[in-house]
Amino acid sequence: MRTAIVLEMPTWSALALDGLRAAGLRRGGARRAVVEYLGAQDCCCSAQEIREGIAASGSAVGVASVYRALDTLAELRLVQRVDVGDGVARFEPVRADHHHHHHLVCDDCGRVAPFTDEPLERALERAAGRLGYTLEQHDVVLRGACDDCRRGLAPPGA
Ligand SMILES: [Zn+2]
Ligand SMILES: [Zn+2]
Repeated sequence: MRTAIVLEMPTWSALALDGLRAAGLRRGGARRAVVEYLGAQDCCCSAQEIREGIAASGSAVGVASVYRALDTLAELRLVQRVDVGDGVARFEPVRADHHHHHHLVCDDCGRVAPFTDEPLERALERAAGRLGYTLEQHDVVLRGACDDCRRGLAPPGA
């Protein structure tokens, strides 16, 4: 059924596969698997997470192939590298529909989660204007303990 195919192929994945074809690159194997996995995520993933995610869906792709696919996608500006300061390279789809968000990082379990905040966006624009900058892009990373880790913490003094 056609609708089912459309639902399984989010916009970014379709664009990325078109981009690979336009660049004269084969879209099969590891590249396709990486594109389909990333397209289903709402935030960034490390190469290792991508490899594990693909493996969980029943295909085996080596981590070196995942890195090669990510390099190619980054060169084509279809993915961007996200650095949240923990030394792990993560990658996120560059979405045409301006899927702008920031990141929360848990220092205990390493989880990275997306968040959006409209007043924060406006505050950043205002701050940049006050400082005489035209804001082209910005990254905001909040660090701390995620809800799971926080609840797992021993009570003070224990
Ligand atoms: Zn993200
Ligand atoms: Zn955590």
